[in-house]
Amino acid sequence: IWATVLAALKSALGKNSFSSWIEPLEFKELVDGVAVFDVPTNFIGNYVSQNFGDQILYHMNNLGQEVQRLQFRVPSQTRPTAKAKATSKAAEPEAGSGAPLDSRFTFDTFVVGKPNELAHAAARRVAEGGPVTFNPLFLYGGVGLGKTHLMHAIAHELKLRSPELNVLYLSAEQFMYRFITALRERKMMDFKQLFRSVDVLMVDDVQFIGGKDSTQEEFFHTFNALVDGQKQIIISADRAPGEIKDLEERIKSRLQCGLVVDLHPTDYELRLGILQSKVEVYSAQYPELQIADGVLEFLAHRISTNVRVLEGALTRLFAFASLVGREITLDLTQDCLSDVLKASDRKVTVEEIQRKVSEHYNIRLSDMIGPKRVRNYARPRQIAMYLAKQMTSRSLPEIGRRFGGRDHTTVMHGVKRIEELKALDSQIADDLELLRRALQE
Ligand code: ADP
Ligand code: MG
Repeated sequence: IWATVLAALKSALGKNSFSSWIEPLEFKELVDGVAVFDVPTNFIGNYVSQNFGDQILYHMNNLGQEVQRLQFRVPSQTRPTAKAKATSKAAEPEAGSGAPLDSRFTFDTFVVGKPNELAHAAARRVAEGGPVTFNPLFLYGGVGLGKTHLMHAIAHELKLRSPELNVLYLSAEQFMYRFITALRERKMMDFKQLFRSVDVLMVDDVQFIGGKDSTQEEFFHTFNALVDGQKQIIISADRAPGEIKDLEERIKSRLQCGLVVDLHPTDYELRLGILQSKVEVYSAQYPELQIADGVLEFLAHRISTNVRVLEGALTRLFAFASLVGREITLDLTQDCLSDVLKASDRKVTVEEIQRKVSEHYNIRLSDMIGPKRVRNYARPRQIAMYLAKQMTSRSLPEIGRRFGGRDHTTVMHGVKRIEELKALDSQIADDLELLRRALQE
């Protein structure tokens, strides 16, 4: 079977990529839906997984193997870790021809908070089935905020409620890959037939087709055919439809004609809620482990980039604590996660903050620092002061000096004002989270 996959990959990838990346792989075994490969280096493993993973999965499944996941290992590093055990029960086999769904991504495991409540409500509504309400449902938001999770949750729920429904979930990349394969193998009829016969089509990370002209064209036709046939479409992307690069106008406008909802950056409460719900799962897995008060709060505070990083940190923490057989204390957390914490702790300068904030509000840096007191400049200035106070270790007088020599009481007033506004104005709260995230990356 691997030989057949190899042949298919060779023609799909071309000789060069094939001999650099695929030939070094040594197929070892297929257990519980996980295909295991030996690779010479971790780098090759990671590269292959990121760039060719979907194709390898696709070909293996095409040949009747039920493979949900690929695992690449360097032969000398094959000791199983607690972490590998914890994650190996991820995906479940999937009938039909979509990408596999992660069985953990359900509505039950999705924690709802202010930043995602709209997206969640819309997803719920669509998952209830019945007459098509919003078409398409377009979910967008930054990396790791739960788009894929929500899409899988919709698919699970629809299948539970109406097992006869033909629900097809796949990434835009897989859509393109199948389209190109169909073209090459002269199987466009099959392709069209497949995509035109679904009841619900979900395409994840649609920003991927930006700049891919023929794929866009085909996507557009598929989209229209399904909408005309009253079939539900659900799309996700990392940004709003209008902001996807190199996407045809007619597609942008099509994508906007249903309901567009965004997942906002997480806030502290949501992060804490997610951690608490994950800890419940881990506590069942590692009943012997204790977690000290304050650890979750600490993590929710310090890791604000995205949920995937947050989850990864927790997984590591539990694996580590179970290896050393100790309670999860703040000290242990800091030891075990020092690299993650350092990364999310990147030193930010007042100047960077000023630059980002003025970009964000579309004003000139000189106006932010300058003397003008009109609100257009004053508000961003206060936001920058607030972030400078929060994200750097500069004192109020030092911050004042960097804002055109302002007095420390001015800075203090600005910081206070934003603190008040943050509680009242969700737009400001969102802007702050967004800026903070951008600055940390
Ligand atoms: P995206 O597709 O937006 O990049 P994912 O849906 O893959 O993000 O989410 C990344 C990880 O974070 C997943 O493991 C997912 O389960 C988890 N996650 C994200 N948001 C939530 C949430 N609100 N509740 C529980 N888990 C979440
Ligand atoms: Mg995703």
